[in-house]
Amino acid sequence: MKIVILGAGLAGLSAAEELARRGHEVVVVEKEPFHGGLAATIKRDGFVYDLGPHRFHTSNDLILGFVKGLPGIDLLELDRVSRIRLLDRYFDYPLSFSNLLSTMPLHRGVGMMLSFLREKIRGISAPREQESFEGWVLSRFGRGLYDLYLAPYNKKLWGIEPSQLSADWASQRITVPSLAGLIKETIVPSKETVRSLVSTFHYPRGGIGEICRGLASGITEMGGSLLFSSEPTGLKKAETGWCINFPNSHIVCDKLISTIPVNSYTELLGNILPEEVHRAASNLKFRALVFLTVHLNCDIEPLDHWIYTSEDRYLFNRLSISRNFDPDVPSQVVFEYSCQEGDDIWKMSKEKLLETTIPGAEHLGLFSAETVLGSDIIRRAYAYPIYDLTYAKNTSLVLDALEEIADCVTCGRQGLFRYNNMDHSIEMGKFAALEILGEASVKSHFNWDENTWADG
Ligand SMILES: Cc1cc2nc3c(=O)[nH]c(=O)nc-3n(C[C@H](O)[C@H](O)[C@H](O)COP(=O)(O)OP(=O)(O)OC[C@H]3O[C@@H](n4cnc5c(N)ncnc54)[C@H](O)[C@@H]3O)c2cc1C
Repeated sequence: MKIVILGAGLAGLSAAEELARRGHEVVVVEKEPFHGGLAATIKRDGFVYDLGPHRFHTSNDLILGFVKGLPGIDLLELDRVSRIRLLDRYFDYPLSFSNLLSTMPLHRGVGMMLSFLREKIRGISAPREQESFEGWVLSRFGRGLYDLYLAPYNKKLWGIEPSQLSADWASQRITVPSLAGLIKETIVPSKETVRSLVSTFHYPRGGIGEICRGLASGITEMGGSLLFSSEPTGLKKAETGWCINFPNSHIVCDKLISTIPVNSYTELLGNILPEEVHRAASNLKFRALVFLTVHLNCDIEPLDHWIYTSEDRYLFNRLSISRNFDPDVPSQVVFEYSCQEGDDIWKMSKEKLLETTIPGAEHLGLFSAETVLGSDIIRRAYAYPIYDLTYAKNTSLVLDALEEIADCVTCGRQGLFRYNNMDHSIEMGKFAALEILGEASVKSHFNWDENTWADG
């Protein structure tokens, strides 16, 4: 069989690798000039950096074994260090009750506990709605912690009010279920390791993009091909299978796997899908990210892999320190700015962004303007699927309609509009390959409970 795979991120390459290994002809079509998608390592002009902090961790031994076995991979095992910068001090991330209380100014600590008790009393007579992030978090943590960190951070990350954000995001990301849970965890730590508390992770020497490099070299060795800087203009049903159109050419194939953003995919399918599916797909929105990497001629003190910065004084919402992942890369900090494609942050020049970033970096004691050797910028329009209050309805309408079309499968973070981790995308790709071969299905393989996708 000849199978075309759209997208050369982890999901697309994993699907292609599985199919090539089973003797099928695969062609991977990627719009960027490089592979990796969100898990790429950018290498240009002396810069070597990932798109934000990427730690590889999985509870699936088969996926870990698969990654370890990729050609040329040298997986380091690291102890995670990550913190939150708030009120000019550092708090542990993930949050712990003892650290919160001992680090917070006394009046805030007391306020946090009182507001939590108020919520518990309110819950008896007037329970909060549980559909939104706001209702879910307030009822479990109280207003003190909500106003201090959980609301401002999430507003900055998502660009919408927490009342407009689905509670699914909270239940997926906040794995300790309440302030009471945090207290209990401090007194009697649970035996089961909660995913966001996993304290060690793997990282490939040379950058996270090494995983995709290993996948891609396996695919080409087995005779598969990768087409870069190639963006289809339409997908049409052929006599048997599919015709993928490009501006000046086309490819005919038997089957198709898509890992590109689900709304780009539905657009390519055009009138194969009814209007109501297009309407639902256009309501699925993605949050964009701008990454600014700053090269330095000095070492950086903090040992953190990454630091969250929810306060308005920092335009960036997170920073990561590359050398704490791999000691062999240059001294550099990668800043992330959450935004919408086309807005003011998205359009900001590298120079302007650097200018607005330096005071924050100085305030954090990371580096000063004199130590900056250079900077690089990259923008990604599809970083996070936005779980607004209508996302679940729209996603299932679109995915149900796509399932009805023969000889094609959509998968991956963008293809399923699912906030997932790297191991999930690898597994989704492999199961999409099996689905194409009629041996399994992505939908029935995964448990679609929010716990499956916890933390990233
Ligand atoms: C800042 C950040 C930090 C993260 N940290 C972690 C972490 O620590 N641990 C973890 O496990 N996960 C992490 N993740 C998640 C992880 O990066 C993703 O789950 C994974 O890389 C997604 O892979 P994918 O192949 O499904 O999607 P993508 O990587 O998005 O791949 C989709 C590919 O399709 C291509 N494409 C798009 N449109 C078209 C088109 N029209 N035609 C052709 N090609 C197209 C894209 O260029 C891309 O290469 C993080 C994500 C972000 C954004």
